Amino acid sequence: MLAQPTAHLLHAPRHQRRCRPLPARLAPARFPYFLCILLVAVLLQHPASALARDPSVLDGLALAQRGVSANLCALTFDDGPGQTTEALLDILRDKGVRGTFFVVGSRVHRYPETLKRLVAEGNEVGNHTFTHVSLRQRQPVEQLSEIARTNGELAKLGIVPRYLRPPYGRYDNATIDAAAAQGMTIALWSVDSRDWRKHDLAAVLPRKVYGVLGVRGVFLFHDNHRETVEALPNLIDRLSEAGCTFVTMSEYVETSGPLCLH
Ligand SMILES: [Zn+2]
Repeated sequence: MLAQPTAHLLHAPRHQRRCRPLPARLAPARFPYFLCILLVAVLLQHPASALARDPSVLDGLALAQRGVSANLCALTFDDGPGQTTEALLDILRDKGVRGTFFVVGSRVHRYPETLKRLVAEGNEVGNHTFTHVSLRQRQPVEQLSEIARTNGELAKLGIVPRYLRPPYGRYDNATIDAAAAQGMTIALWSVDSRDWRKHDLAAVLPRKVYGVLGVRGVFLFHDNHRETVEALPNLIDRLSEAGCTFVTMSEYVETSGPLCLH
């Protein structure tokens, strides 16, 4: 069974929402109207977000509602570790920025030193399944195996991930349950860099994330594209100039609760 549309959450009774009031400076009378436009735009960009049935899932909508108070920006990198991970780590270290890497479990044993460095430098590790399969509509036992095997590989390095990012953003109720059984929450993204399309990221991305709330969000990149490595230094500079405060995924989620939309 697929989840309820996320739009349902926007109209849920007040007592069902756990949210914080808007900061006073962001709450003029017409603000909710603009916020709705922004959130609809996010949903249209990320159809997978519309599958959320459980408020514990950090889908595009849930993430877009967070991180406002300080224009938080979480840079996340999927599909590693790989040959470009060290270069990404060099850039993050040089820029004084920490990121979050959603790793594929079957690759972890090939890059133990990279994973150790990644954590030692303050970056966060998330689970991106063991073989990068689409989890949606797979048997629950298979989904649990994909998640647990990756956690097993990471445990050998002393790493315990808090978040699962299902490949392609595809999940169902069994995925939510399997993640919870492993002590994790599903976390997607709110801004897709579309780096897999090999666009000029530095030219495209900043324009897309400007809005009434400023530059912020959970940014999706991939760990295996040379274009991402080449564009990242300039991109970080531009996001920083636009007001980003860079945080890890956990910090993004913990620092600011969801907004009230009423
Ligand atoms: Zn992926």
